[in-house]
Amino acid sequence: MRFFLCALTSFMLISAPAFAATDVQSIRQATANVDTAAIAATTSENWLGHGNDYREQRYSELKQISADTVANLGLAWSFDTDFNRGLEATPIVVDGVIFVSANWSVVYALDAKTGKQLWKYDPAVPREWAKMACCDVVNRGVAVYQGKVIFGTLDARLIALDAATGEKIWETQSADITAYPYTITGAPRVFKDKVLIGNGGAEYGARGFVAAFDVNSGEELWRFYTVPGNPADGFESAAMEKAAATWTGKWWEYGGGGTVWDSMVYDPELDQLYIGVGNGSPWNQKVRSPGGGDNLYLSSIVALNPDTGEYLWHYQETPGESWDYTATQHIMLADMEWQGETRKVIWQAPKNGFFFIIDRENGKLLSAEPYARVNWATHYDLDTGRPVETERARYETKPEFIRPSSMGAHNWQPMAYSPDTGLVYIPAIDALFKYEDVEDYLHKWGQWNLGVKLEQDAAPNHVLAQLMMKQVATGSLLAWNPTTQSAAWSVPYPMPWNGGLLATGGNLVFQGTATGEFRAYAADSGDQLWQFDARTGVMAAPVTYTVDGEQYITVLAGWGGAFGLIAGIEQVTQPPPSRILTFKLGAKGELPVNPVKQINPAPEPGEVSAEDLAAGRTLYHEFCAGCHGTDAVSNGAVPDLRHLPSVYYDNFDKIVLDGVMRKMGMVGFRDVLTEEDSALIKAYVLTQAQEDREIREAKGWWASVKMAFYKVVAAILGWVMNYV
Ligand code: CA
Repeated sequence: MRFFLCALTSFMLISAPAFAATDVQSIRQATANVDTAAIAATTSENWLGHGNDYREQRYSELKQISADTVANLGLAWSFDTDFNRGLEATPIVVDGVIFVSANWSVVYALDAKTGKQLWKYDPAVPREWAKMACCDVVNRGVAVYQGKVIFGTLDARLIALDAATGEKIWETQSADITAYPYTITGAPRVFKDKVLIGNGGAEYGARGFVAAFDVNSGEELWRFYTVPGNPADGFESAAMEKAAATWTGKWWEYGGGGTVWDSMVYDPELDQLYIGVGNGSPWNQKVRSPGGGDNLYLSSIVALNPDTGEYLWHYQETPGESWDYTATQHIMLADMEWQGETRKVIWQAPKNGFFFIIDRENGKLLSAEPYARVNWATHYDLDTGRPVETERARYETKPEFIRPSSMGAHNWQPMAYSPDTGLVYIPAIDALFKYEDVEDYLHKWGQWNLGVKLEQDAAPNHVLAQLMMKQVATGSLLAWNPTTQSAAWSVPYPMPWNGGLLATGGNLVFQGTATGEFRAYAADSGDQLWQFDARTGVMAAPVTYTVDGEQYITVLAGWGGAFGLIAGIEQVTQPPPSRILTFKLGAKGELPVNPVKQINPAPEPGEVSAEDLAAGRTLYHEFCAGCHGTDAVSNGAVPDLRHLPSVYYDNFDKIVLDGVMRKMGMVGFRDVLTEEDSALIKAYVLTQAQEDREIREAKGWWASVKMAFYKVVAAILGWVMNYV
């Protein structure tokens, strides 16, 4: 009888149309029923798992908002978060309540109908730790399980809150941040009373791992390292011993890499876990493992026993990874017809540019075909499962322009699949990167340790650089047919780094863009049917759900992330507050116009020799560009060093070396930079400011001629690069 009642309540709460009941008791009751079975069930009223259900197809059957009605879609409400940095999270929605993470790992619970804040939890991430995050102070989402909201923090803590009140239930340091500069930006996954989390840090030097924790106590249950440690210390498992045979040199001194910073999927059908393993640390294999080798389990999908963390199988997508080609991208589970048989497969479009179909029962490669322009490999040999690399791939004798770039042909932005069209929708990127060895590699704790030059020095000034970027770095919404392994249609975008995807039963695909539009396309044809001005770049993936029988779409709008910070793309306005936007049919809301940008006049740089300027430029790109942007051009959320009030230039050393602004995230660099270095960086920044001022103030025919000339040069260079 008791079982029957439980089952009945569970059925009513999870399967019946959700009602907006946002009092503590109702939230407690609704979230108590979110467990492995509830997440596995493909109900469309809620959005219970990171990718909806465990298959992570990001498809909802809801069709009130459809290709026929979407023209009538409008903004129901918007919620301003407390920050203006990049937002990447997928919200979890349970019976009319949205649970979502934002900048600095702050978590909000909102009423899905009104946007009213129910509670907020701020884990007080030390702002200094921002320097250890390669790719902005972002968080890709929370997990909800049996009344708890669980999330990771930038400083690698794992925290469980009471879903009804936001009060902390437990907290644990999931990774030792004194050993390596670990960060968590990914969403935890929950299954079988466990919570799984990995972390980032492979740009700095880190040893990757995932760990499972008891969902009730926060106690660590098991840990799986993705790369071997020092053999002299013994191996944690047979899998590590096997992996160590594929490495050379003293890789453990650099950490080795292989961080699991995004995709982790539980497969309830086969009771297996799949983790996507990241790049080598440092990127350049010649530094990390000088004698070569496959370097297991970098850039691999590894299957684990969910109860013990034991290795089951792996498939390595990029052996001997040397380009930041992570396999951390969205892992999607599907059943498909393949050569006359129904196979249980994984679909993945990782950074390296090939769309993989892998048999998830055994890890066997079924197919790998390029979904983007690729020049590091010609194809995959299906007998060996290995790529056939091109001669230029390993930049052995000279710098090489390689496609895809370190951004990948697809990054963390989630894909979506529609069973109605049979298409996988990919936020694709077309870009190249100049890979060049650094001379005399020196590993520095807490710094970017790539082993390749980050400075691209492609253009003599930033105007030309920006114009060229538009030629050589673009994006698209790519509709990919996995059955034929070919493109069905694509929508080109002027910029890379567009938003994650949602597919619905209304023959719709939703996506935000880098240029700030939130759009709906017909899932079958790719025709654009609707758009909304989000006032800022949208990177996050939308979700959909119903409350009181009405369908809603929610998406986070906040520009930043790795590309947003580093790209050196100037925004015309101040960044607006990063927001949570919710849409429904018949609503007519609009967002306020962005504030005007403040540009302070920087002092003159004075006499700077060409040699000093080049040195300053190199130092800037090694230590500053990751946050403040290429060519000292910032996206505005992090201060643009060309436009600061003069007091900052007067106290440059105190800020850059002594870290007087560490509480705001700007740490001191005295451990790695000298006063001479600081002066060189300042001279470079002021020279960039002067150039910027001259361009802004340039008027008349000469300025127009110069700009026209730049455009022609950029177009020619861009055209040439397109043949690389
Ligand atoms: Ca990376």
